[in-house]
Amino acid sequence: MKALGGVKGFHDIVPPESERFTALEDRLRGVLRSYNYDEIRVPIAERTELFARSLGETTDIVEKEMYTFDDRDGTSLTLRPEGTASVVRAAIAAGLAQRERVAKLYYTGPMFRRERPQRGRSRQFHQIGAELIGRDDAMADAETVVLFADCLTAAGVSTAHIVLNSLGDAACRPAYRAALTAYGEAHVAELCANCRQRLTRNPLRLLDCKEEGCRRVMADAPRVTDHLCDACRAHFDEVKRLLAAADIAFSEDPRLVRGLDYYVRTAFEALAPNLGAQNAVGGGGRYDGLVEALGGPPLAGVGFALGVERLLLAGEASTVDTSPQVSVIPLAAAATLAALQMARRLRLAGVRTELESSGRSVKSAMRRADKLGARFAILVGDDELAAGRATVRDLRAQRDHRLVLAIDAAGAALMDGLHAIAASAPPVGAGGAAGG
Ligand code: AMP
Repeated sequence: MKALGGVKGFHDIVPPESERFTALEDRLRGVLRSYNYDEIRVPIAERTELFARSLGETTDIVEKEMYTFDDRDGTSLTLRPEGTASVVRAAIAAGLAQRERVAKLYYTGPMFRRERPQRGRSRQFHQIGAELIGRDDAMADAETVVLFADCLTAAGVSTAHIVLNSLGDAACRPAYRAALTAYGEAHVAELCANCRQRLTRNPLRLLDCKEEGCRRVMADAPRVTDHLCDACRAHFDEVKRLLAAADIAFSEDPRLVRGLDYYVRTAFEALAPNLGAQNAVGGGGRYDGLVEALGGPPLAGVGFALGVERLLLAGEASTVDTSPQVSVIPLAAAATLAALQMARRLRLAGVRTELESSGRSVKSAMRRADKLGARFAILVGDDELAAGRATVRDLRAQRDHRLVLAIDAAGAALMDGLHAIAASAPPVGAGGAAGG
């Protein structure tokens, strides 16, 4: 029968890549915990309305990239295209987003956007993100960017460059929007069809159009940072001052608008030098009106999301050792149970252990242990069982040892014995058998 293919843009993550994937997530979780964030797990499907209301009706994501479908009762559902809206909704529902309280939450998991797949861009991808809800001070922005930078370093992407902008707020953005619209209208003939539409619906989006013609026009467009009100300017200056003091390298980019409507004031992104067109490894910003827009109290918020696949693409090639430490080989059917028990003890002690079937020849089992990269092979047979000892082969040193195994010893003790052998015991036949 013909093998069934997967869905375009949805990828399997298979070993050894899956191990690198998990190792990266573990490292980032460690960083997030060190900043005192707690994990939140939110569903992958939400009511469509949640994203329409928070990301903005005229954003690319909501207009054309969401996986939206009707549930059997007619409710419109959407596979989450990003995490912030869900986290804020869940934080409100759980009473975590409350006045006089600060919620620090991180999440990981798949996101779904129906974009054109290419290197670094797929339709299901994974993010790890952090949200700080209930703080509106510049220090919260700065600490968030520092955390973001520390995550990049932990991911081995320290070459990524952080760009920063301020998008203004409800007080000053309308005037900037008007200035941008006027500028766009004066250059409408040079804009792409998409941007002509954006001009009336969402002029900020003109700034991140990738079309060459639009980029040329927008290079001279009014800058948001020239239109900030005093409060936004002071906030932005303080964020920059703190980041500089914290030795975080960044540059300002007045064209950085981010794709979503909920951002106000600080916006940032990290760009990796080696990724080509899809070079953003993560981004974030402040979203002060969002909690209230989703029915919660008037709380500020700031956060970011990193793309796990892109971090792996951009990161210094790291490998994760997935070899078993020990391979247990029963030499005969009678030793099957002893081998099973020994393997279990090692495993309970956290030792990565492979157990060979008793049905294959010792030679092929040894070859397999070698191929898997096992450090030690423990051979358990009738004689060994009777004597309470087994032969240990140090596969790296290619030496055999007779180990008084105390077959019922705890796994950790067994492993200690193995390491002692590796460190000091003379090989069999070259000065006597170790351990008897
Ligand atoms: P965004 O909120 O859109 O800036 O997304 C945050 C991060 O998620 C980006 O910087 C990327 O690293 C990653 N990302 C976004 N869209 C995709 C995609 N279609 N495929 C892979 N990674 C993505």
